[in-house]
Amino acid sequence: MGKTTKNLKHMADLIFNNATLIIFTWDLDGRITSMNSYGEKITGYSEEELIGNFWVELFLGEEKDKINDLIECIKAGKDTKDVLSTLWRTRHNQMIDLMWTNSPIYDSNENIVEMMSFGTDITENNALLKKLNRLAYYDDLTNLPNRKLAEEHVDKVIERCDKHNKKTAFLTLGIDNLQQVSDTIGYEVANTLLKFIALELEENDNINYVSKLNEGEFGILIYDIEGREEVKKKAEELLLSIRQPLVDEGYNFIVNASIGISIYPDYGNDFSQLMKHSNIAMCKAKENGSNGYLFYNKTMKREIEKNIFIVNNIEYSIGMGHLSLHYQPIIDLKDNSIHGFEALIRWFHPKKGYIPPMEFISTIEESGQIINLTTMILESAFRQKSLWNKKGYKDMKIGINLSIKSFQKGNIYEEIEKLLEKYDISPKEIVLELTETAFVKSLNICDDTLKKMRDLGLEIALDDFGTGYSSLARLSKLSLGYLKIDKSFIDPIKEGNNEEALLKHIINLGHSLNLKLVAEGVETKEQMELLRRLGCDLFQGYYFAKPMGADEAEEKFLFLREGI
Ligand code: C2E
Ligand code: CA
Ligand code: CA
Repeated sequence: MGKTTKNLKHMADLIFNNATLIIFTWDLDGRITSMNSYGEKITGYSEEELIGNFWVELFLGEEKDKINDLIECIKAGKDTKDVLSTLWRTRHNQMIDLMWTNSPIYDSNENIVEMMSFGTDITENNALLKKLNRLAYYDDLTNLPNRKLAEEHVDKVIERCDKHNKKTAFLTLGIDNLQQVSDTIGYEVANTLLKFIALELEENDNINYVSKLNEGEFGILIYDIEGREEVKKKAEELLLSIRQPLVDEGYNFIVNASIGISIYPDYGNDFSQLMKHSNIAMCKAKENGSNGYLFYNKTMKREIEKNIFIVNNIEYSIGMGHLSLHYQPIIDLKDNSIHGFEALIRWFHPKKGYIPPMEFISTIEESGQIINLTTMILESAFRQKSLWNKKGYKDMKIGINLSIKSFQKGNIYEEIEKLLEKYDISPKEIVLELTETAFVKSLNICDDTLKKMRDLGLEIALDDFGTGYSSLARLSKLSLGYLKIDKSFIDPIKEGNNEEALLKHIINLGHSLNLKLVAEGVETKEQMELLRRLGCDLFQGYYFAKPMGADEAEEKFLFLREGI
């Protein structure tokens, strides 16, 4: 043997014995003829035990004839990866993932006598890849496909729909009380709740695909729908199926959920539109009360866009002075004198024009921006009042509307107290108007603030009376100053009709509680005169004057200080 050949043999031995690769040789029948020590270690068999065994049978448990395919491939120099599975079963029944390179060994006549295979253990790599894949495409908690995977899936569903002219319903199911559960009982229970719903949805035969979209929101598909009726029925059943009492470590509660539905291709042509629209419908369903479902429609979209506009623009508009107060006179029915003014907010947007308060107040109440607006309203009303006081227009009240959100804010009382002092105004000149619905909904929370305000000498008016079903017993406890009778009671009154009797009853009731009664939305002389006869104290309405700018109000009603 020459020196070089000797060296090569030595090198081959070194590789065979030390490489961290499985290296083994096998004859053309598939019988093992040698195995390196790394291969022994990985497979759990000694070389002695292995020699003479058919490796395919031993490690793969598969058919022997696959060997022939493999040999053909190797001979042809083709990629052999697909020919045989790379999963090997070890002596200890563990599955290992291997990646192979295979080479033929020739004799001196160039005949293939044996095969040599080199296998790299990629079990860990593959496990890592799988884990990464799970992280990227599945929700950790519920193991459901996440938004990304759902999107890929929806793309395919859409393609199929187009091909076969079918429709698919896209549902967003949102849990209404998840945050509440998380805040009051703890996030672990909220997680249990999510897992429970994920399971219920996965097992539901009515639906074809479930994914987890956002926190507390599931994306659901129903394929090949015939019409809305079918989807309606399934949505109802879905809501029922998850509305089971959930008992967890002593907690027992019912899951409340809402569903929004958009349909491909009627209400969106890709995943993001379908999802956006079903989400809009879900939010609307939630607003209408829990445990309902709604189909998306175009009006919802316009409403959402309007709300987004409001939220994005209100603060800038406040800063730019596009919001200001208008004043509507409140008239004393006894002598037609000006009792005071109600301050009403006006938003004139340079591009959109006039935006009525009914269109933005509730939106900014929800976004919390009402707090800033209330600060502006209070400041502006107090400044105006002090200006008028300085001009000598005294004994005249200013009514300020407070939404319950700003009333609940911790320091509204202090804010008002400071303003009274800053502008040197007597508290009895200020009337805070709170709607009846606000009172009914959440008065207990702010009872304390209310009491402090009354103690300070501020007066409180119950606004929109008649719309909120408050009880008489409760009203009497609030020590209010005024009841403002809602316009809907004034509109239909005519001498001698039922409404007249009802109004009379309200007025008497108010008086028995020592309240002053204000009729809202008086538009005709007849209404005014009838109210006077019924003993109503005050009124406001277009019949006398619409709300107007402070200067106009001053010019028309304060400068002369005449009655009508
Ligand atoms: P509200 O407090 O009941 O105010 C009375 C509403 O009736 C005002 O509408 C007023 O312009 C309107 N009105 C007065 N007389 C008549 C009439 O004879 N006929 C008709 N058809 N309407 C009349 P506006 O200014 O559009 O305000 C609507 C609501 O928005 C208010 O109802 C109040 O709830 C809220 N709002 C207005 N300004 C403010 C504010 O500064 N702060 C808060 N939190 N809410 C406000
Ligand atoms: Ca009011
Ligand atoms: Ca009102």
